Amino acid sequence: MHYPEPISKLIDSFMKLPGIGPKTAGRLAFFVLDMQEDTVLDFAKALVDAKRNLSFCSVCGHITDVDPCQICQDKQRDGSMICVVQDPKDVIAMEKMRDYNGLYHVLHGAISPMDGIGPEDINVPSLLTRLQDEKVEELILATNPTIEGEATAMYISRLVKPSGIVTTRIAHGLPVGGDLEYADEVTLSKALEGRREL
Ligand SMILES: [Zn+2]
Repeated sequence: MHYPEPISKLIDSFMKLPGIGPKTAGRLAFFVLDMQEDTVLDFAKALVDAKRNLSFCSVCGHITDVDPCQICQDKQRDGSMICVVQDPKDVIAMEKMRDYNGLYHVLHGAISPMDGIGPEDINVPSLLTRLQDEKVEELILATNPTIEGEATAMYISRLVKPSGIVTTRIAHGLPVGGDLEYADEVTLSKALEGRREL
């Protein structure tokens, strides 16, 4: 189908979002045309602001608008525990659960030799630096229950073991191959509670 260029551009933009095919993108584009101009401007500004004003915490790697992030700065939190996750979205999932009061470390990926991703390509070096500086007693490895996530947890566990820090892995019960971010709060809470030492 031939659209005027501004519309086809808008459709192409929506198609860059995950899970949006041409049909949905078309529907969203025409929906935007029907929106009030103010609403569209606010929407566009929210997109740009989110991108411009957010960066990654220099300590934990979580997404933030202040550095260090609010979680790292929070003195009420238990600094003896660090929960290691793959993605900022996992931190948000953990925080929604409200059962965890420790700190986080976001790897931004997992070790995957097949894709040429080694420990140096994700936030493993910064984790090791952090473990030297801080009074960490337990490292909770909450990487995804995928081959890469498991391999990453095992790798970090072996690396950290000589330091005397306890490494635990969150329990199964999370859907295998699934992402942490999609687990519901009860499942996630149980997975955390049932973590076992590696
Ligand atoms: Zn942080």
